[in-house]
Amino acid sequence: MQKRGEEQALSSQPGGDAQRGRRQRRGVRALHELLALLAPPTCTACRAPLAAAGPLLCPACTRALPWLRGPGCPRCGLPRHRRGGCPAAGAAFALSWAPLAYEGVARDLVQALKFRGALPVARLMAAQVAAGLPPALRGTDAVVPVPAHAGRRRRRGFDPAGVLARALAARLGLPLAPCLARGGGRRQVGAGKAQRRDPGRLAVVARAEPPRRALLVDDVHTTGATLDACAAALAAGGSGWIAAVTYARTL
Ligand SMILES: [Zn+2]
Ligand SMILES: [Zn+2]
Repeated sequence: MQKRGEEQALSSQPGGDAQRGRRQRRGVRALHELLALLAPPTCTACRAPLAAAGPLLCPACTRALPWLRGPGCPRCGLPRHRRGGCPAAGAAFALSWAPLAYEGVARDLVQALKFRGALPVARLMAAQVAAGLPPALRGTDAVVPVPAHAGRRRRRGFDPAGVLARALAARLGLPLAPCLARGGGRRQVGAGKAQRRDPGRLAVVARAEPPRRALLVDDVHTTGATLDACAAALAAGGSGWIAAVTYARTL
């Protein structure tokens, strides 16, 4: 609106000024075209130039993705831990799984999504999650994103877990059920240890009726306290079975 106003003002000025305005606009357009030539597509992880636009990772980063191979613990998603030492033994989710370790290129991608707003990265992550999703985590009724802190979402303008959950729901052909919200310090039934220590930080409530079999989605599984708080809220809201899936798992 303001720009059109300026243009009109320029063109209504007599002779030299209008010409100068047109020259300036042509100059700006040329500068943009030049910048596009000077800034070819780069790898989302290492920022090396890519031969073509399209793939988000360079071949070296694609090879370096830290896949978690082999059967890990189905409950906590760790590749291994000592017997009886499952950190998710008392969790409100039945299973949790991540295709990658939270390190190297996988961490670079999560950071790109989180801090540089690289939304196409969410589609790549969703594809990698969907490709390896174990059969036990298939057949859920809907995908539920871990809710973001309202303040953080406002600052970023979007919510990484929500974007990943949406992309994954589309990949899996499941509905998206954004039924959880960060609550205001209310204690939750079945809350994990971390939440009991800091009830305000992790209080989560179900704002709408949750799916019966829920696939809970976050970008990274760290201590599991957030996933546990979300799963507890889903269970309290009526979910009968909850599995948690993340893009990466902290080892
Ligand atoms: Zn790279
Ligand atoms: Zn375990």
